[in-house]
Formats: sequence, C-alpha cells, structure tokens
Amino acid sequence: MTRYPKLFEPGLIGKMRLKNRIIMPPISTNLANEDGTVTDELVFHYAERARGGVGLITVENVCVDYPLARHGAAQPRIDDDVFIPGLRRLANAVHEAGALIAVELTHPGMNAEPCFTAGQTPVAPSAVSRPKDGLIPRALSREEVMEAAGKYVEAARRAKKAGFDAVELQACHGLLINQFLSPLTNKRQDEYGGSHENRLRFLLEILDGIRLYLGPDFPVMVRLVAEDLLEGGLTLEDGQWFARHLEEAGAAAIHPDFGLGGKEKRLEPMPYPQGWRVYLAEGIKKAVSIPVIAVGVIREPGVAEEILQAGKADFVALGRALIADPEWPHKALAGAEKSIRKCIGCNECVVARHVEDAPLRCTLNPAVGKGRDFSQTGRAEVRKRVLVIGGGPAGMEAARVAALRGHQVALYEKEDRLGGALHIASVPPGKEKLDWVTEYYSNELPRLGVELHLGEMVEAKMVRAWRPDAVIVATGSEPVIPDVPGVDGSNVIVAQMLLARKMHFTGEHIAIIGGGMLGLETAEYLATQGNAVTVLKRYTTVSRLIEPLYRDYLLRKLKEEGVEIITEVEVEEITGSGVVVLDRQGVRKLIPADWVVMARGARASDKLAREIEDPHPIVIGDAVEPRKIIDAVREGFVAARAI
Ligand code: SF4
Repeated sequence: MTRYPKLFEPGLIGKMRLKNRIIMPPISTNLANEDGTVTDELVFHYAERARGGVGLITVENVCVDYPLARHGAAQPRIDDDVFIPGLRRLANAVHEAGALIAVELTHPGMNAEPCFTAGQTPVAPSAVSRPKDGLIPRALSREEVMEAAGKYVEAARRAKKAGFDAVELQACHGLLINQFLSPLTNKRQDEYGGSHENRLRFLLEILDGIRLYLGPDFPVMVRLVAEDLLEGGLTLEDGQWFARHLEEAGAAAIHPDFGLGGKEKRLEPMPYPQGWRVYLAEGIKKAVSIPVIAVGVIREPGVAEEILQAGKADFVALGRALIADPEWPHKALAGAEKSIRKCIGCNECVVARHVEDAPLRCTLNPAVGKGRDFSQTGRAEVRKRVLVIGGGPAGMEAARVAALRGHQVALYEKEDRLGGALHIASVPPGKEKLDWVTEYYSNELPRLGVELHLGEMVEAKMVRAWRPDAVIVATGSEPVIPDVPGVDGSNVIVAQMLLARKMHFTGEHIAIIGGGMLGLETAEYLATQGNAVTVLKRYTTVSRLIEPLYRDYLLRKLKEEGVEIITEVEVEEITGSGVVVLDRQGVRKLIPADWVVMARGARASDKLAREIEDPHPIVIGDAVEPRKIIDAVREGFVAARAI
C-alpha cells in the first residue's frame, strides 16, 4: 500500500489513460542535432525518465515552423515529414520503457533570436518591441496568422503519425500564442486582436484544426498562460476565461503557467519554496472541469500528494525533479523517499539551456545529457579496497559510485558528520535545500555498505596501514586569509567560520571584505539578523559564477535589507574602528565597523594529497581547486567509475 494513493492513482486526460498522476513537463535539453533531428542522447534521456515510472512525458520545445520558430541551437523539429522517423524512434523508446509521450508544439514568435532564424526578423501578432531588448518584431498578416495556425495542425498530424499519444500547445512563457492572448503584445485591429474572443481566435483555430484533422479523441493539452508578470498583462481572471473557452472547444487538459515577463518566477532559484506556483492551477481548476496540471518546485512526494488530495490540481508536473532523479516516481511508490536525489533549485540546468545553449546538465546528476555509456556505473570486474578521504559532495559521490560498482569502500571525514562545505553553504537565507544533498548521501552511503568513519582525521601514514587499492582525496578547501594589517584583530571573523557556527549578531555595524557569492550571502545572513552591513568589493561586476537569476534575486534582497555595496576599493588595513580602504581615485577612507568579516573565498586544501605516495591518490573537488558543487559531484562520479 503506497503512502501516496492519489499520486499513484491512474488518471484520464481525454481518453488517454495515465498510470499515475505524474507528468514530465517540457524542459529543453539541447540534445537534438543542430538540424533538429533526434539523437541517441535525446532518446536515452526520455527513455530513462520513462523507466523511472513517470506517467506521461512531454517532449520539449519542438519547432513547428523552421526557421522562424527556431528556438535554440539544438532543438527538435517537427515542421517536416522528414522528422517523423526520428520522432517515432523516440516515441517507441518511451512507450517500451512504460510511459506515454506527448510533444510540446512551440513557436517563440517575437522571442525568436535572429541568430537562429537565418537572419529573418522574428514575427508576432503586432510590431510591439519586446521587453527584454527592445527588438521590434514583424507583425504577421492575416494570411500569415492562418498559415501559422496550419503549421501547428501539420505538426500535430506528424506527432500522431510518429506514435505520440498527445500534443501540448505552448501558450505561455511569452511565446507566440501567449503574444496573441496578451493585450500587451497584441494590438491588432482585425479579428485576431481586441476582445478576449479575438485574442483567443488564433489558439482556437489551432485547436479546432487539430481536432478536425486528427479527430476529437486525440488529446490536445494547452500550456496556458494563467497570468502575465508584466503590468497591464493578463490576470488570473483572464486565464480562467481562456481556460473555460478552451474546455468548450475540446481541450483535453490545461497546464497553467506564467506568461510574459518574470523569468525568475518560471525558473525559480533555490530560495523559492516548494509548490509556491500551485495557486495558478488552483485558480484555473475553479473555472474548468477538464484536468488541470500543477507545476513549480514540487520536490517531495508528500507535497505532490497534498496538492492532489486538496483538489488543487489533477496531475503534478515534475520537471527539474526528474532531471535530478529520473527514478523519483519509483522511489516514491516504493516508500524510498530518502533515496530520492531531490533537486535543489541551483539552476545549473537553466544556465546550460538558456544562457549557454549547451546540453542539459545537472549539479546532482552527472549522467544527465551524457547518454547511455556515460550513465552506466556498472560493476567492477575486481572488487577493490577504496579509501575516500573527505565527506563533502565530491567524496560522498565518489563513495556512492564506488560502492555501486561493488568495491569495498571506507570514507573518512574529519568532522563528525557528512556534508563538508555544504554545511556552510546551506546557512544563508533560502539556501536550506542544500541540506537535502547531505541528507541524501547520509542515507545512501550506509545503505550501499560504505564504511563511515566520521570525526576521524587521516594522516598519510595511516593510508599505508589501511592498504587500499585506490585512494580518493576529497579534502575540500580552506579559507583564504589575505595578508592585510590588522587581519588577526579580535574584531575580525572569517566568513566560513561565522556561517559554520551560525554566529548571531544584532544591531552591529559589519563590514564584509569580499563581494563574491560567499561575501554577498554572508551579507544577507547578517542583514536579516538586524545588522547594518557594508560589502567591500574590488570590482564593479558581480561574479559570473553566480547563476544569473539567483544573482538578480540576491542583489534585490540585499537592496531590500539595506546592505551597502562599495565597489572598486582596495583594503589597506583593518583597525579597531573598521576598514581603511583606498578607492580608484586614490582617496583613503575609513569604513566604520564593529566587526569585520573576511570573505575572500577559499583555496584547495591539498596537503594530504601531496603527502600520500602509494597508491598515487586521485584528487577531486575543491581539493584540486575550489569550484561549484557540480564540479565536485561530477569528479566524484568520474573518479569512482574509473576504479
Ligand atoms: Fe535541480 Fe540544480 Fe539539477 Fe537543475 S541542476 S535539476 S536545479 S539540482
């Protein structure tokens, strides 16, 4: 008997029967070929999620009209029959792995990039400049609007021919259909603009066309804008109105989400709480009786079950949750919740997809986007004694994979708990999800038989005595303490220490030296405790290592908390009254402070690695060079896979 009866109850979308209430929403992978054909990696990516137990998979961002609707460097295409065989291979693989499959039909309209549209000006309902950069799209003529609707219908025909079970019309996120629906981007004077009825006409023509062509039983779901995030845009009442009329027109399900603007709210960084966006589904559900799909930071089976039990939605969409752990559904069903590698919302995947146009990657799941060969950890032919030194993310992942390969693994950690630098990183406001990583490994390592030695310091001579076949050194990093006069004063604290001890101050003036992620997050931590905080930075720019949506979020929070950021200053001296700095004009001044926090980053803690000679150690993670969690986890995975 499952703990989540509603989540694992079969459900209908039209006549399509899903084995459970879990849907994978469209998430761009950039795993197609540049010409839009399907690759082995794309097939493996979706088949892997299907094997994990999801009910329905929606294939990402598929281009309905090339090149005008091209929306990414390696996007799948469905604008010509030539793509049907590849799509059929994808549909077959997902079916064989036990899930249903739908395709998201996408046209970005004004949000296409000219670099992808062969230099053509992006098209839109009206020539209204787009908010992100002011580019003015070309308004579609009446004939072109009808032609564009026909492209969606043709695409749906190809999807059905390729064996897909349903289509989902992309009508949110500020893309073409959303642009027709919203009064901000639709200023047309003809029958496609003006009233609600007219703005909905383009979408209804697509829906009618598909139903006419493919019959009323082929499910057409709509990823519908429930509200825009720009002033004067669509409200939830508008979303309800559209949803009602779409139901009347035969839509099989509504998958509501945000529309124009507000990228941060669609691709939420870590601080956003679980299920915060579900109110959109709840609102739409009040207007329709067809199924409604809830999306947005749903990470735990209990949260998903609660959404369904409360009647806020009929299905839940797990996007990043299934990127981080494709086995999420099976683990939830088996009651193995602690074995779920829960997405922490770090948005490394978002940077890959939206900033770099690179293949999908995941901080916690190194196998994502890499295809079958890389993903298989396999069993080693010879069982070896593997010694892992360091219990941060790199060491924990190395120990996990080495144990999966059948090795005898011992992990030594000098602290009395696993986690390493994660314990510091999870302290600032909104970073609590990082504790999930430690909790996951704390459950998995003993379960896989890893011998844990916590609170035990390793010296090089002990390694020889243990006689390991392989040694992995993951000793992490240590704080950088610059050689500044006064740095050893009693008013100076190291940021890492402050966070590790969860030190508390109130009503103090605090100067932070260092404006990287560590300095800024420490500033927020101290400001929320009621201190007056000043950050002193050498440069004007904020580190590119910080994920852009989170960076904007963090800078906004710091502003709200009244944190002052002083840029382009060199620290000359720390005194009992504060920090003496020199600005670019050569002006020296004192920044008054009761306390001074050093946040100048970290350097590799690699002494032990240099001392161990036999066997030659494999050094991974921050012990090589302090970087991100994704680097630590990937190096742990790769190192253990090679033993
Ligand atoms: Fe989640 Fe981060 Fe993985 Fe993206 S990269 S799926 S946000 S853990």
